[in-house]
Amino acid sequence: MRLGILGGTFDPIHFGHLRLAVEAKEALKLDDVVLEVAAQSPFKLETPPTEGGTRCEMVKCALDRCHNMRVGNVDLRRSGPSYTIDTVQAYAEPGTEVWLIVGTDALSGIPKWKDPERLLQMCRIGVGFRPGQDFAAAIGELSEHWRKRIRAFPTPLLEISSTDIRKRVANGQSVRYMTPQCVVQIIERSSLYRIER
Ligand code: ATP
Ligand code: MG
Repeated sequence: MRLGILGGTFDPIHFGHLRLAVEAKEALKLDDVVLEVAAQSPFKLETPPTEGGTRCEMVKCALDRCHNMRVGNVDLRRSGPSYTIDTVQAYAEPGTEVWLIVGTDALSGIPKWKDPERLLQMCRIGVGFRPGQDFAAAIGELSEHWRKRIRAFPTPLLEISSTDIRKRVANGQSVRYMTPQCVVQIIERSSLYRIER
């Protein structure tokens, strides 16, 4: 069984994440993709994210009962910052080939993640191209040892980020068609992102 893990803060989830998951699933022939909701990014410790339950709820509704994509909450159930190595370990079992799915912007940072060597042994990495990010430069920074475990696949260029969505909401602008309508509704209902962080 080939399992893809797309980790993110998903604050909120948007169409960039969703297309990345679908393209990865097709390009890497994955059976299942888990969208793993991070408790807190070790790189964003000074700005706490929206409550985990609400972020999960947004991912769940965005997936809209897609049968081979699901929300993951092993990170949320652990306390403290989410490290990818712990996430991969939680999903690793005999017979499961784990693929970590990342956008280009996340790629160059991987050697700085916790326990990179062990991470590389436990999973392979699928990289989707992201607009504004130079993939050739990002992969060029990595050693051959890393490159061997990485497969790149193209994704449609969706110029959307959660940061942009949060800014728009804080400015009173519409975020319709950047994320599924059910996510827009949760943002409105729970009064998320009214104050810019
Ligand atoms: P933020 O702006 O808060 O950093 P984000 O939109 O970058 O949020 P993350 O949760 O940080 O979303 O990203 C999770 C993963 O999704 C990362 O691997 C990132 O590269 C990828 N990703 C995010 N947005 C896109 C997009 N528009 N196209 C392709 N990949 C994306
Ligand atoms: Mg990001």
